[in-house]
Amino acid sequence: MKVIDHINQAKGTLISFEILPPLKGKGISAIYGHLDPLMELKPAYINVTYHRSEHIFKKRPDGSFEKVVIRKRPGTEAICASIMNKYNIDTVPHLICGGFTLQDTEDALLTLSYLGIDNVLVLRGDAAKNETSFDPEPGGHKYAVDLLRQVINLNKGVYLEEELRGTSSTTFCAGVAGYPEKHFEAPNMQTDLLNLKKKVDAGADYIVTQMFFDNKKFFAFEKACREIGISVPIIPGLKPVTSKKQLTIIPRTFHVDLPEELSGEILKCKTDEDVEKVGEEWLLMQSKELKAAGVSVLHYYTLGKPHVVVNVVKEL
Ligand code: FAD
Repeated sequence: MKVIDHINQAKGTLISFEILPPLKGKGISAIYGHLDPLMELKPAYINVTYHRSEHIFKKRPDGSFEKVVIRKRPGTEAICASIMNKYNIDTVPHLICGGFTLQDTEDALLTLSYLGIDNVLVLRGDAAKNETSFDPEPGGHKYAVDLLRQVINLNKGVYLEEELRGTSSTTFCAGVAGYPEKHFEAPNMQTDLLNLKKKVDAGADYIVTQMFFDNKKFFAFEKACREIGISVPIIPGLKPVTSKKQLTIIPRTFHVDLPEELSGEILKCKTDEDVEKVGEEWLLMQSKELKAAGVSVLHYYTLGKPHVVVNVVKEL
Protein backbone atom coordinates (compact mmCIF):
# COMPACT_ATOMS: atom_id res chain seq x y z
CA MET A 1 0.00 0.00 0.00
CA LYS A 2 1.19 3.52 -0.75
CA VAL A 3 2.37 5.88 1.98
CA ILE A 4 -0.17 8.48 0.86
CA ASP A 5 -3.00 5.94 1.18
CA HIS A 6 -1.81 5.04 4.69
CA ILE A 7 -1.95 8.74 5.56
CA ASN A 8 -5.32 9.36 3.96
CA GLN A 9 -6.93 6.35 5.63
CA ALA A 10 -5.40 6.86 9.11
CA LYS A 11 -7.56 7.98 12.04
CA GLY A 12 -4.62 9.41 14.00
CA THR A 13 -0.86 9.93 13.81
CA LEU A 14 1.04 7.02 12.24
CA ILE A 15 4.52 5.78 13.11
CA SER A 16 7.26 4.95 10.60
CA PHE A 17 10.95 4.07 10.84
CA GLU A 18 14.05 4.57 8.75
CA ILE A 19 16.75 1.94 8.81
CA LEU A 20 20.10 1.55 7.05
CA PRO A 21 21.15 -1.58 5.15
CA PRO A 22 23.67 -3.55 7.24
CA LEU A 23 27.36 -3.05 6.63
CA LYS A 24 28.60 -5.59 4.09
CA GLY A 25 29.59 -8.73 6.00
CA LYS A 26 26.91 -8.44 8.67
CA GLY A 27 24.07 -10.25 6.88
CA ILE A 28 20.33 -9.66 6.81
CA SER A 29 19.91 -11.00 10.37
CA ALA A 30 21.37 -7.69 11.60
CA ILE A 31 18.32 -5.94 10.09
CA TYR A 32 15.87 -8.39 11.61
CA GLY A 33 17.53 -8.03 15.03
CA HIS A 34 17.04 -4.26 14.72
CA LEU A 35 13.47 -4.45 13.45
CA ASP A 36 12.04 -7.20 15.69
CA PRO A 37 11.58 -4.94 18.75
CA LEU A 38 10.22 -2.10 16.55
CA MET A 39 7.53 -4.20 14.88
CA GLU A 40 5.39 -4.44 18.02
CA LEU A 41 4.86 -0.66 17.64
CA LYS A 42 2.92 -1.39 14.44
CA PRO A 43 4.64 1.05 12.08
CA ALA A 44 2.74 1.90 8.91
CA TYR A 45 5.87 1.43 6.76
CA ILE A 46 9.66 1.17 6.92
CA ASN A 47 12.12 3.30 4.95
CA VAL A 48 15.44 1.82 3.85
CA THR A 49 18.24 4.23 2.94
CA TYR A 50 20.42 3.99 -0.18
CA HIS A 51 24.20 4.22 -0.03
CA ARG A 52 26.19 4.90 -3.16
CA SER A 53 29.60 3.43 -3.84
CA GLU A 54 32.72 5.06 -2.48
CA HIS A 55 36.26 5.28 -3.76
CA ILE A 56 38.90 4.12 -1.34
CA PHE A 57 42.66 3.88 -1.77
CA LYS A 58 44.06 0.43 -0.88
CA LYS A 59 47.74 0.09 -0.14
CA ARG A 60 49.53 -2.44 -2.37
CA PRO A 61 52.41 -4.60 -0.99
CA ASP A 62 54.90 -2.37 -2.87
CA GLY A 63 53.63 0.69 -0.96
CA SER A 64 51.76 2.23 -3.89
CA PHE A 65 48.00 2.86 -3.73
CA GLU A 66 45.20 1.43 -5.80
CA LYS A 67 41.84 3.20 -6.25
CA VAL A 68 39.04 0.74 -5.49
CA VAL A 69 35.27 1.23 -5.72
CA ILE A 70 33.29 -0.35 -2.89
CA ARG A 71 29.75 -0.25 -1.58
CA LYS A 72 29.68 -0.64 2.17
CA ARG A 73 25.89 -0.92 2.50
CA PRO A 74 24.48 -2.53 -0.64
CA GLY A 75 21.11 -4.20 -1.08
CA THR A 76 18.43 -1.54 -0.47
CA GLU A 77 15.91 -3.01 -2.94
CA ALA A 78 16.41 -6.60 -1.75
CA ILE A 79 16.19 -5.58 1.91
CA CYS A 80 12.87 -3.84 1.21
CA ALA A 81 11.53 -6.99 -0.43
CA SER A 82 12.78 -9.17 2.45
CA ILE A 83 11.18 -6.94 5.08
CA MET A 84 7.88 -6.95 3.18
CA ASN A 85 8.04 -10.71 2.95
CA LYS A 86 9.01 -11.35 6.59
CA TYR A 87 6.83 -8.79 8.37
CA ASN A 88 4.06 -8.19 5.83
CA ILE A 89 4.64 -4.45 5.97
CA ASP A 90 5.11 -1.76 3.32
CA THR A 91 8.61 -0.53 2.62
CA VAL A 92 9.97 2.67 1.10
CA PRO A 93 13.34 2.30 -0.63
CA HIS A 94 15.32 5.50 -1.02
CA LEU A 95 16.36 6.26 -4.58
CA ILE A 96 19.15 8.73 -5.33
CA CYS A 97 20.57 10.54 -8.36
CA GLY A 98 24.22 9.99 -7.39
CA GLY A 99 25.90 7.11 -9.20
CA PHE A 100 22.88 6.40 -11.42
CA THR A 101 22.49 6.91 -15.15
CA LEU A 102 18.93 7.41 -16.42
CA GLN A 103 19.00 3.79 -17.62
CA ASP A 104 20.14 2.53 -14.19
CA THR A 105 17.26 4.48 -12.64
CA GLU A 106 14.70 3.05 -15.02
CA ASP A 107 15.99 -0.48 -14.36
CA ALA A 108 15.90 0.10 -10.58
CA LEU A 109 12.31 1.37 -10.78
CA LEU A 110 11.24 -1.65 -12.83
CA THR A 111 12.96 -4.01 -10.38
CA LEU A 112 11.07 -2.37 -7.49
CA SER A 113 7.81 -2.53 -9.39
CA TYR A 114 8.32 -6.27 -10.14
CA LEU A 115 8.97 -6.82 -6.42
CA GLY A 116 5.58 -5.27 -5.63
CA ILE A 117 7.07 -2.13 -4.09
CA ASP A 118 5.05 0.97 -4.96
CA ASN A 119 6.78 3.57 -2.77
CA VAL A 120 10.04 5.49 -3.23
CA LEU A 121 11.68 8.37 -1.42
CA VAL A 122 13.29 10.42 -4.18
CA LEU A 123 16.57 12.15 -3.28
CA ARG A 124 19.60 13.69 -4.87
CA GLY A 125 22.16 12.10 -2.52
CA ASP A 126 25.26 13.83 -1.21
CA ALA A 127 28.64 14.27 -2.84
CA ALA A 128 30.65 11.06 -3.06
CA LYS A 129 33.28 10.64 -0.34
CA ASN A 130 36.50 12.38 -1.44
CA GLU A 131 34.50 14.82 -3.59
CA THR A 132 33.70 18.35 -2.48
CA SER A 133 30.47 18.84 -4.39
CA PHE A 134 27.74 16.66 -5.85
CA ASP A 135 28.52 15.47 -9.37
CA PRO A 136 25.83 13.55 -11.25
CA GLU A 137 26.76 10.57 -13.41
CA PRO A 138 27.39 11.69 -17.00
CA GLY A 139 23.87 12.23 -18.35
CA GLY A 140 22.40 11.46 -14.89
CA HIS A 141 20.09 13.61 -12.79
CA LYS A 142 21.46 16.73 -11.12
CA TYR A 143 18.57 17.40 -8.73
CA ALA A 144 15.96 15.27 -6.98
CA VAL A 145 13.25 17.01 -9.03
CA ASP A 146 14.74 15.58 -12.25
CA LEU A 147 14.75 12.06 -10.82
CA LEU A 148 11.19 12.60 -9.58
CA ARG A 149 10.10 13.56 -13.11
CA GLN A 150 11.50 10.24 -14.38
CA VAL A 151 9.50 8.36 -11.70
CA ILE A 152 6.31 10.25 -12.57
CA ASN A 153 6.92 9.67 -16.27
CA LEU A 154 7.22 5.91 -15.73
CA ASN A 155 3.93 6.08 -13.81
CA LYS A 156 2.46 7.47 -17.04
CA GLY A 157 4.09 4.74 -19.16
CA VAL A 158 6.80 7.03 -20.51
CA TYR A 159 10.06 5.06 -20.83
CA LEU A 160 13.47 6.22 -21.97
CA GLU A 161 12.89 4.26 -25.15
CA GLU A 162 10.16 6.07 -27.07
CA GLU A 163 8.85 2.87 -28.68
CA LEU A 164 7.88 1.49 -25.24
CA ARG A 165 5.61 4.45 -24.48
CA GLY A 166 2.25 3.31 -23.13
CA THR A 167 3.16 -0.41 -22.97
CA SER A 168 2.79 -0.62 -19.20
CA SER A 169 3.13 1.85 -16.37
CA THR A 170 4.26 1.83 -12.74
CA THR A 171 2.28 3.11 -9.75
CA PHE A 172 4.88 4.70 -7.48
CA CYS A 173 3.95 6.97 -4.60
CA ALA A 174 6.88 9.39 -4.30
CA GLY A 175 8.10 11.25 -1.23
CA VAL A 176 10.78 13.95 -1.24
CA ALA A 177 13.04 15.55 1.37
CA GLY A 178 12.48 18.93 3.04
CA TYR A 179 14.72 20.90 5.40
CA PRO A 180 13.23 22.87 8.32
CA GLU A 181 16.67 24.43 8.85
CA LYS A 182 17.42 24.85 5.11
CA HIS A 183 19.46 22.54 2.89
CA PHE A 184 23.10 23.42 3.51
CA GLU A 185 23.81 24.30 -0.13
CA ALA A 186 20.81 26.60 -0.59
CA PRO A 187 21.67 30.30 -0.54
CA ASN A 188 18.66 31.08 1.69
CA MET A 189 15.50 29.51 3.11
CA GLN A 190 13.12 31.03 0.55
CA THR A 191 15.10 29.67 -2.41
CA ASP A 192 15.20 26.25 -0.79
CA LEU A 193 11.43 26.36 -0.21
CA LEU A 194 10.80 27.29 -3.84
CA ASN A 195 12.99 24.37 -4.92
CA LEU A 196 10.94 22.15 -2.61
CA LYS A 197 7.76 23.47 -4.24
CA LYS A 198 9.18 22.46 -7.65
CA LYS A 199 9.32 18.87 -6.36
CA VAL A 200 5.73 19.03 -5.14
CA ASP A 201 4.56 20.61 -8.42
CA ALA A 202 6.38 17.81 -10.29
CA GLY A 203 4.23 15.24 -8.47
CA ALA A 204 5.65 14.47 -5.01
CA ASP A 205 2.94 12.99 -2.79
CA TYR A 206 4.47 14.04 0.54
CA ILE A 207 7.54 15.55 2.19
CA VAL A 208 9.72 13.96 4.90
CA THR A 209 11.91 16.36 6.81
CA GLN A 210 15.51 16.26 7.80
CA MET A 211 15.84 15.65 11.55
CA PHE A 212 15.32 18.66 13.83
CA PHE A 213 15.48 19.04 17.59
CA ASP A 214 13.43 22.20 18.00
CA ASN A 215 9.76 21.78 17.10
CA LYS A 216 9.41 25.53 16.58
CA LYS A 217 11.59 25.13 13.48
CA PHE A 218 9.30 22.43 12.12
CA PHE A 219 6.15 24.47 12.71
CA ALA A 220 7.72 27.55 11.07
CA PHE A 221 8.80 25.43 8.09
CA GLU A 222 5.33 23.92 7.76
CA LYS A 223 3.76 27.38 7.86
CA ALA A 224 6.20 28.72 5.24
CA CYS A 225 5.44 25.71 3.00
CA ARG A 226 1.68 26.30 3.27
CA GLU A 227 2.17 30.01 2.50
CA ILE A 228 3.80 29.23 -0.85
CA GLY A 229 1.10 26.74 -1.78
CA ILE A 230 2.61 23.40 -0.72
CA SER A 231 -0.35 21.39 0.48
CA VAL A 232 0.96 17.79 0.63
CA PRO A 233 1.53 16.11 4.03
CA ILE A 234 4.78 17.11 5.76
CA ILE A 235 6.19 14.29 7.86
CA PRO A 236 8.60 15.25 10.66
CA GLY A 237 11.84 13.23 10.84
CA LEU A 238 13.01 12.61 14.42
CA LYS A 239 16.20 11.19 15.83
CA PRO A 240 17.27 10.37 19.40
CA VAL A 241 20.54 11.81 20.67
CA THR A 242 22.32 9.00 22.49
CA SER A 243 25.96 10.03 22.94
CA LYS A 244 27.97 13.12 23.81
CA LYS A 245 29.96 13.03 20.60
CA GLN A 246 26.74 13.58 18.62
CA LEU A 247 26.78 17.16 19.90
CA THR A 248 29.36 17.86 17.21
CA ILE A 249 28.68 15.01 14.75
CA ILE A 250 25.00 15.88 14.19
CA PRO A 251 25.53 19.58 13.31
CA ARG A 252 28.55 18.71 11.13
CA THR A 253 26.83 15.89 9.24
CA PHE A 254 23.26 17.08 9.01
CA HIS A 255 23.63 20.88 9.23
CA VAL A 256 21.07 21.23 12.03
CA ASP A 257 21.28 22.87 15.47
CA LEU A 258 20.69 21.33 18.86
CA PRO A 259 18.85 23.73 21.19
CA GLU A 260 20.89 25.10 24.08
CA GLU A 261 18.56 23.51 26.61
CA LEU A 262 19.24 20.04 25.12
CA SER A 263 22.99 20.49 24.64
CA GLY A 264 23.28 21.92 28.19
CA GLU A 265 21.59 18.84 29.70
CA ILE A 266 23.78 16.51 27.63
CA LEU A 267 26.96 18.29 28.70
CA LYS A 268 26.02 17.68 32.35
CA CYS A 269 25.85 13.89 31.75
CA LYS A 270 28.66 11.69 33.08
CA THR A 271 28.06 8.65 30.82
CA ASP A 272 26.44 7.91 27.47
CA GLU A 273 23.71 5.97 29.35
CA ASP A 274 22.81 9.29 31.00
CA VAL A 275 22.86 11.00 27.59
CA GLU A 276 20.52 8.33 26.26
CA LYS A 277 18.02 9.13 29.02
CA VAL A 278 18.17 12.85 28.23
CA GLY A 279 17.83 12.11 24.49
CA GLU A 280 14.86 9.82 25.12
CA GLU A 281 13.05 12.43 27.22
CA TRP A 282 13.68 15.08 24.57
CA LEU A 283 12.42 12.81 21.80
CA LEU A 284 9.29 12.02 23.81
CA MET A 285 8.65 15.72 24.42
CA GLN A 286 9.06 16.48 20.69
CA SER A 287 6.87 13.52 19.68
CA LYS A 288 4.05 14.44 22.09
CA GLU A 289 3.94 18.03 20.88
CA LEU A 290 4.00 17.05 17.19
CA LYS A 291 1.31 14.43 17.72
CA ALA A 292 -0.86 16.96 19.57
CA ALA A 293 -0.38 19.32 16.59
CA GLY A 294 -1.87 16.61 14.36
CA VAL A 295 1.08 15.56 12.17
CA SER A 296 0.17 12.67 9.89
CA VAL A 297 3.23 10.51 10.69
CA LEU A 298 6.07 10.53 13.22
CA HIS A 299 9.07 9.24 11.27
CA TYR A 300 11.96 7.99 13.43
CA TYR A 301 15.58 7.64 12.35
CA THR A 302 16.30 4.60 14.50
CA LEU A 303 20.01 4.29 13.63
CA GLY A 304 21.17 1.45 15.85
CA LYS A 305 19.11 2.56 18.88
CA PRO A 306 15.73 0.86 18.44
CA HIS A 307 15.13 0.51 22.21
CA VAL A 308 15.10 4.33 22.68
CA VAL A 309 12.45 4.70 19.98
CA VAL A 310 10.49 1.75 21.41
CA ASN A 311 10.38 3.43 24.86
CA VAL A 312 9.27 6.75 23.35
CA VAL A 313 6.52 5.32 21.14
CA LYS A 314 5.21 3.16 24.01
CA GLU A 315 4.94 6.29 26.18
CA LEU A 316 3.04 8.08 23.39
P1 FAD B 1 17.49 18.42 -3.99
O1 FAD B 1 16.03 18.54 -3.77
O2 FAD B 1 17.96 18.16 -5.38
O3 FAD B 1 18.18 19.73 -3.40
C1 FAD B 1 19.59 19.82 -3.30
C2 FAD B 1 20.00 21.29 -3.29
O4 FAD B 1 19.80 21.84 -4.59
C3 FAD B 1 19.18 22.17 -2.35
O5 FAD B 1 20.04 23.17 -1.84
C4 FAD B 1 18.12 22.79 -3.24
O6 FAD B 1 17.66 24.03 -2.75
C5 FAD B 1 18.88 22.92 -4.55
N1 FAD B 1 18.02 22.74 -5.73
C6 FAD B 1 17.03 21.83 -5.90
N2 FAD B 1 16.50 21.93 -7.13
C7 FAD B 1 17.17 22.92 -7.77
C8 FAD B 1 17.09 23.48 -9.06
N3 FAD B 1 16.22 23.04 -9.96
N4 FAD B 1 17.97 24.49 -9.37
C9 FAD B 1 18.88 24.95 -8.46
N5 FAD B 1 18.98 24.44 -7.20
C10 FAD B 1 18.15 23.43 -6.88
N6 FAD B 1 21.13 10.59 1.07
C11 FAD B 1 21.54 9.40 0.57
O7 FAD B 1 22.59 9.32 -0.09
N7 FAD B 1 20.82 8.26 0.80
C12 FAD B 1 19.67 8.26 1.50
O8 FAD B 1 19.05 7.21 1.67
C13 FAD B 1 19.20 9.51 2.04
N8 FAD B 1 18.04 9.59 2.73
C14 FAD B 1 17.58 10.82 3.17
C15 FAD B 1 16.32 10.89 3.79
C16 FAD B 1 15.83 12.13 4.22
C17 FAD B 1 14.47 12.20 4.88
C18 FAD B 1 16.60 13.30 4.04
C19 FAD B 1 16.09 14.63 4.52
C20 FAD B 1 17.85 13.23 3.41
C21 FAD B 1 18.34 11.99 2.96
N9 FAD B 1 19.56 11.88 2.29
C22 FAD B 1 19.99 10.67 1.80
C23 FAD B 1 20.42 13.06 2.14
C24 FAD B 1 20.13 13.83 0.84
O9 FAD B 1 20.49 13.06 -0.26
C25 FAD B 1 20.97 15.13 0.92
O10 FAD B 1 20.45 15.98 1.89
C26 FAD B 1 21.21 15.85 -0.40
O11 FAD B 1 22.27 16.78 -0.18
C27 FAD B 1 20.01 16.62 -0.94
O12 FAD B 1 19.03 15.79 -1.35
P2 FAD B 1 17.61 16.38 -1.87
O13 FAD B 1 16.86 15.22 -2.37
O14 FAD B 1 17.01 17.22 -0.83
O15 FAD B 1 18.14 17.27 -3.09
